[in-house]
Amino acid sequence: MSLHFSVLASGSTGNAVFVEADGQSFLVDAGLSGKQMEGLFQQIGKSVSDLSGILVTHEHSDHIKGIGVLARKYKLPVYANQKTWNAMDRLIGEVAVDQKFTFDMETVKTFGSLDIESFGVSHDAVEPMFYTFHHGDKKLVVITDTGYVSDRMKGTIENADYYVFESNHDVQMLRMGRYPWNIKRRILSDVGHVSNEDAAIAMGEVAGDRTKGFYLAHLSTDNNMKDLARMSVSQTLQDRGIIVGEQFSLYDTDPKIPTPLVAI
Ligand SMILES: [Zn+2]
Ligand SMILES: [Zn+2]
Repeated sequence: MSLHFSVLASGSTGNAVFVEADGQSFLVDAGLSGKQMEGLFQQIGKSVSDLSGILVTHEHSDHIKGIGVLARKYKLPVYANQKTWNAMDRLIGEVAVDQKFTFDMETVKTFGSLDIESFGVSHDAVEPMFYTFHHGDKKLVVITDTGYVSDRMKGTIENADYYVFESNHDVQMLRMGRYPWNIKRRILSDVGHVSNEDAAIAMGEVAGDRTKGFYLAHLSTDNNMKDLARMSVSQTLQDRGIIVGEQFSLYDTDPKIPTPLVAI
């Protein structure tokens, strides 16, 4: 009775998280090309054809790029809320009507012994939402692409075993960097992305006695680095009395290399 997962790829070049329990397996997003997605599956010893479906978070291309190809080639069911379907329909090409499913925000769908719960986030897409997986007493949360972590989100995601958690940018690097001001303002806004420090503050608040780790996800290529993210998250947590390695661990994710398949 265990829940397995791997962050297949994470970052602005494409996002995908693999989750499996009790013979049911899902992808949260497929933001790389079909070919790249197949390569990532190979690296964790899994096959796209065994998937039960793809869960879509929002219509940005780094989350949907491979969905059309994979859905057509492997006849996979695709789940998204109605507004997201409307926004991404023309972007992913033809998907058969009987493969299109609606997954409303703030609802739960049950697949065998796996419950999947959707929750809304604050991001500049039509109706962005992420997912919590419940299997027995195990809980896994995937949350990237949000401008901030609201109290409502915190209530939904608290005390999970593991988190795939956005730690997008270092504020200083972003401010000093080469992005035009309107892009900087978008990233820093309430509907953009979470900084290393803000991520750490939220982590400290949602972590509970069962929490074992956070996978730092969706790192900006231009405005962050793995070491910097880990250091800055650890430091901010330490300032709040939380020692990384004692209460819970931090893990890297990569734009191209899957994290090892972990059993919760
Ligand atoms: Zn996005
Ligand atoms: Zn994204």
